Amino acid sequence: MLDDVLDDVLDATTRYAASILADLPTRPVVPGGDTTTPEPLALPVTGMGFDGALDLFTRRWAPGFSGSAGPRYLGFVTGGSTPAAIAGDWLATAFDQNPAASDGSSAPDLERETVRWLASMFGLGDEHSGAFVSGATMSNFVGLALAREWLGEQAGVSVAQAGVGALGSVKVYSGAPHSSVYKALSMLGLGRDSLRPVPTLPGREAIDVSRLAAELDGTPAVVVANAGTVNTVDFDDLRAILELRARNPFWLHVDAAFGGFAALAPDHAHLVDGLNEADSVCVDLHKWLNVPYDSAIQFTRRRDLQVDVFRNSAAYLGLPTGNPDFVHLTPENSRRLRALAAWFTLTAHGQDGHRRIVERCVDLARRLGDLLADTPGVRLLAPVRLNVVCFTLADSPTPERVAEAARRIAAHGETFLTPTVYNGQPALRAAFSNWRTRPADLAAIYGAIADACDGL
Ligand SMILES: *Cc1c(COP(=O)(O)O)cnc(C)c1O
Repeated sequence: MLDDVLDDVLDATTRYAASILADLPTRPVVPGGDTTTPEPLALPVTGMGFDGALDLFTRRWAPGFSGSAGPRYLGFVTGGSTPAAIAGDWLATAFDQNPAASDGSSAPDLERETVRWLASMFGLGDEHSGAFVSGATMSNFVGLALAREWLGEQAGVSVAQAGVGALGSVKVYSGAPHSSVYKALSMLGLGRDSLRPVPTLPGREAIDVSRLAAELDGTPAVVVANAGTVNTVDFDDLRAILELRARNPFWLHVDAAFGGFAALAPDHAHLVDGLNEADSVCVDLHKWLNVPYDSAIQFTRRRDLQVDVFRNSAAYLGLPTGNPDFVHLTPENSRRLRALAAWFTLTAHGQDGHRRIVERCVDLARRLGDLLADTPGVRLLAPVRLNVVCFTLADSPTPERVAEAARRIAAHGETFLTPTVYNGQPALRAAFSNWRTRPADLAAIYGAIADACDGL
């Protein structure tokens, strides 16, 4: 009976989705001020059918959704979805595989193939294995869980077995860590206080390696290096950090959530030189790979530790062997075949296609940076190193005035930027990571910013 309506449901959904995607370039980037959360609705006891559901959704909820998948949404580091990625994501749902374990499906092997492709794209060798997780926060979480297990190994205890109490005090060093690193440390029982911020270089978000060297005292520690900070896309000097590791035992985790994509562009690949030597690496995919949300990857050289941490032993699942199932590698057990969206876009566009997306975003960020550098009323806070422009008001950039600038920019409907604080300075960021953004979008983006800041 449900089968009878399936074709109609999918056809109607395709048509509706196509109309939404076609409107992306022209619809307001964030909904206008009169869009509010609809009145609560009780759980429908009698179903209204698919047509009724689609009709209700389009009237009641869709108008309040943002145009975050569109070309002029520059908040956070958002990315969009390539058509091939959307198709892969839809097919992951149609096939509804559970690549937790291999039994009866080749889906886990598709994930393994995609992991290998991505490793090679980011310059990681065969020593690195990996798995898909839901986002960079979970990727950082997994990497730091491995670091925790490694600290146990150094101390001759199994944290997975004995618990984090067996470890004693843990020191995690980082220059300008993403907020999710603190969250991961909290979830791991290491605590947010285990993070010891190390000063960054003057006027930079990159760690001062000499200050890091001075902190290291020969006891095993964790270093979280940053390859692409959110404010100014600054990169720690991985080679210099690696030299320290030759004399001091530490686990090197690199948060390359979006900065890892520098590896694709010959002009920028040097920024992630040394990435392959890291013990664990985080790369987000729902940002700059342009796959839908719910996708990131974690890499590590120590899959044995990963199995120690995430092993899920049950009689019917069997014990992990040489090629452990994903159920023994990731925080989840049952999981979505989120690799399929990445597989589709990598296959459809190839490494070259994705390099072009990266290079175009960098070029657009540079151009916006050049425009803003010549705009009275606006002051760039950092050179445009990759795909983010970080700037503030030239004149008394108080939190209130910068927030007002952000509100005015959003009110235009042309673009959306997110506020931040950089170096104690309230600021705005424009992050380019969507394949759809073209030079033609720049005029509208710049116009909205210049207009909003003019006379403030
Ligand atoms: C976005 C981001 C994260 C967190 O990613 P989620 O996908 O939101 O979990 C972590 N680190 C960096 C550097 C990021 O840019």
